[in-house]
Amino acid sequence: MTFEQLGLIDPILQALKTEGYTTPTPIQQQSIPVVLQGRDLLGCAQTGTGKTAAFAIPVLQLLYNERQAGNHPRGIKALILTPTRELAIQIDESFAAYGRHTNLKHLVIFGGVSQLPQTTALKQGVDILIATPGRLLDLMDQGYIKLNQLTHFVLDEADRMLDMGFIHDVKKVITRIPAKRQTLFFSATMPGEIASLANTILTNPQKVEV
Ligand code: AMP
Repeated sequence: MTFEQLGLIDPILQALKTEGYTTPTPIQQQSIPVVLQGRDLLGCAQTGTGKTAAFAIPVLQLLYNERQAGNHPRGIKALILTPTRELAIQIDESFAAYGRHTNLKHLVIFGGVSQLPQTTALKQGVDILIATPGRLLDLMDQGYIKLNQLTHFVLDEADRMLDMGFIHDVKKVITRIPAKRQTLFFSATMPGEIASLANTILTNPQKVEV
């Protein structure tokens, strides 16, 4: 199995070559075609399996194609919610790497630091926002972030959101994003509360387990 066989476009294939990736990991093989079709996804996968690329690559391709088709009103099209600052930074670096030839703008925001550089960057226009829940809600409440253009929502490490006490914030975010969207839901484990959240926010999801 190669990345070409997954139906990826040249700007992405070039970037993967630069990264030195030759073969998609199992979660990537299973997830990328499903996401490219626009379907919802329920992924059971731990960090280290290549799960970041499993969602970042197809989301980049979908947004790139939409932009090529001329659909680019300003606004955040994709939101990635993740529990920690470290994960957020890693995800942002992945979008930078895989999206280097796409011209899409990505930004990472998290708490515990000054919000000024983040709000300044937001004003310049962002296609893909990677965020931790608390800072996201904070900047939304202050009017710096509007998610009415959102078409792709990724919930990363849902079980850790629960463990860290962020699940209420996550649910609050979900009430404030468009209902008509593609949702990708990742969790290493599926405790009852997480399974029922998945059930509520996913529509006919493809399940992927590695
Ligand atoms: P993740 O599970 O998303 O945290 O990724 C784990 C590590 O695997 C990261 O350092 C990625 O850069 C790397 N990685 C992801 N996909 C591939 C691939 N197809 N080939 C080689 N390395 C990869």
